[in-house]
Amino acid sequence: MSTFPPLPGYTLFPPAEGVRAVREGPDPAELALRESEAYFRSLVENARDVIHVINADGTTRYITPSVRHLLGYAPEELIGGTALDLVHPDDREEATAALRLDRYAPGAGRGLEFRMGHRDGSWRIFEGVGTNLIDDPTVRGVIVNARDITGRKRAEEETARLASFPRGTPSPILECDATGAIRYANPAAEHAMRELGVDSARLLLPEDHPRIVRRALESGAGVRDVEVGVGGRVLAWLYHPQPALGAVHLFGEDVTERKQAAARLFHDAMHDALTGLPNRPFFMQRLTAALVRHERGETTAPAVLFLDLDRFKVVNDSLGHHVGDELLVAVAERLRGCVREQDTVARFGGDEFAVLMEELEGPACAARVAERIAVAVAAPVNLSGYEVFTGASVGIALANGARDRPEYLLRNADMAMYRAKGAGGARYELFDRAMHAQALARLQMETDLRRALGRGEFILHYQPIIALSSGRIIGVEALCRWQHPQQGLIAPGDFIATAEETGVIVPLGEWVLEEACARLAEWRREFAHARIAMSVNLSARQFAHAGLVSHIRGTLAASGLNPRHLKLELTESVLVEGGGSAGALLGELKALGIDLQLDDFGTGYSSLAYLHRFPIAALKIDRSFVSGMEADNAAAQLVRTIVGMARGLRLRVTAEGVETAAQLAQVRDAGCDFAQGFLISPPLDAPSMRALLAADPRWR
Ligand code: C2E
Ligand code: MG
Ligand code: MG
Repeated sequence: MSTFPPLPGYTLFPPAEGVRAVREGPDPAELALRESEAYFRSLVENARDVIHVINADGTTRYITPSVRHLLGYAPEELIGGTALDLVHPDDREEATAALRLDRYAPGAGRGLEFRMGHRDGSWRIFEGVGTNLIDDPTVRGVIVNARDITGRKRAEEETARLASFPRGTPSPILECDATGAIRYANPAAEHAMRELGVDSARLLLPEDHPRIVRRALESGAGVRDVEVGVGGRVLAWLYHPQPALGAVHLFGEDVTERKQAAARLFHDAMHDALTGLPNRPFFMQRLTAALVRHERGETTAPAVLFLDLDRFKVVNDSLGHHVGDELLVAVAERLRGCVREQDTVARFGGDEFAVLMEELEGPACAARVAERIAVAVAAPVNLSGYEVFTGASVGIALANGARDRPEYLLRNADMAMYRAKGAGGARYELFDRAMHAQALARLQMETDLRRALGRGEFILHYQPIIALSSGRIIGVEALCRWQHPQQGLIAPGDFIATAEETGVIVPLGEWVLEEACARLAEWRREFAHARIAMSVNLSARQFAHAGLVSHIRGTLAASGLNPRHLKLELTESVLVEGGGSAGALLGELKALGIDLQLDDFGTGYSSLAYLHRFPIAALKIDRSFVSGMEADNAAAQLVRTIVGMARGLRLRVTAEGVETAAQLAQVRDAGCDFAQGFLISPPLDAPSMRALLAADPRWR
């Protein structure tokens, strides 16, 4: 504890006349004074403020012990030192003036804030006032009374900062009382009111605002995402209860853009990007809802129309995807024009569309719409300068019972559509039970086919092909048969189509290839004179299968055959339906050294463009032309034309289905290279074919 320094003449300020009397000897008055002095001393020594007595020369004469607590120094360390050393250099000049530390400016100073350095290096903020008593002979110094206001300053700043947040935020903030009445609106809330053209903040809040306020206060929990639509915008409010204040604070956010983006995402997820029509998931939702309404007896039976464009692939492949897309958009527009407002037109992808019709007066009504659609779609469309014709095959399925499931209804419509397509397209078919029975039969057939394959019930027959120049056998075509345990030998015409539809053709085709290659290798080894090749049929479905090329390569390697001895027969549908990928695949096969032949030429698209574009080595003229040659001169002329064209494209030509000697002469005359048909030999089982090869016959 520092001792109070003896001031010249007086022990304590303010100097008073009475003090002098004290020195003259103890008497009651003096005792009272002494007590008073002790009292003041104790006051000063225990002051929370700093009382600083500064000499005229600027040195510290006295400083209260409180300095230890406030600035970390003991008074003894400071006494005698330059008083202003502790003041922040930037504040010194102003402090000197304000605290009247200037000896020539006696009197009371004004209050001032200044910083003083703490021993720990931090700066503390003081508020002080100085009294210049330099001219007072009893003091000859300046008394400064300073108070540490650092804590208070910090608190003030904090308050100011906190207050500035809600004011400064761009989000509307409101405060309301327990009844919901608004007590405060921040500038952003006022701004929002102006922007939205409402004159009361209440209009920014939902109808049931008072109820939400009550709920928030009662539960003590916030209520989030309270959305309100105002003037085309969407505000989302958070109700934050302040039970202690009997108030609720509301924090608002303009979520319009976010809502719009979410709505756009939802729309995109439910619509087809090209046509803007609902997509399959959306259609299924609508269909499900329609069936529920129907079940409840609220509506008549809904109908589903499923449609597929005829020849869309041809348009797409020949005129390009761009035109194909335009066609789809045009069809979408026409479809919309054919139905009522409440019906749903959807695009399922590719050239598949579906229509949902509700509140129908009856099946005839659905048929009328299907008819209208067939007519509308069949009208020519002008696209990028092309006049494009397409058609729609439409299948109709009607809900007819409480147990209709949406996917069944769609499947039925799909089945009916296939029927319409199979009947030549550009028409509609109504789904009936028979179709379902047929579908079941197909499923049974698929099971049977798979089982037959597993049991080895398939066999190959071989039909010789001769060179017309020499009359000798130059090849055989492998033709598949099903040796059915009950039904006997079944021709490929009765199972190949189903095998294709069900995918069984892939493993079946692999077996055919392996068997045919193994047989040929055997015959080539056995008969040195038999310089024959093997023709194997490939279906479009096999072309779509990724493992085709590697399987062919593997089979050739396993049999030890030269790829030149294998010929693959494909139909034009492979070229048309396979699109761009078929070209690459055929190129790969050609590169392997395998000849590719176009089977049944003349029955399909017979487009020169296809022949030109793909690496085809030979044509097989369909037997319908060959059989017509005898009676019909035009047919003979046609065969000659095909041969001439094939010559131009450097393609070899085989005449299929030669049944008579006259036909043989005619196809030879027409310039065909090879011939095949019952006249030469029907397809034979392996032992008979082997015998024929051994005999090495000639046909002249
Ligand atoms: P295709 O490839 O055009 O085979 C020729 C068909 O014509 C064979 O019928 C053959 O028996 C028949 N044929 C040959 N010469 C004559 C004739 O002078 N007159 C008459 N009327 N017919 C003749 P098949 O064996 O019934 O085969 C029918 C079709 O089944 C084949 O037509 C082919 O497209 C397909 N096919 C046969 N085997 C396979 C196979 O292993 N895989 C694939 N994908 N299809 C096959
Ligand atoms: Mg063939
Ligand atoms: Mg053929």
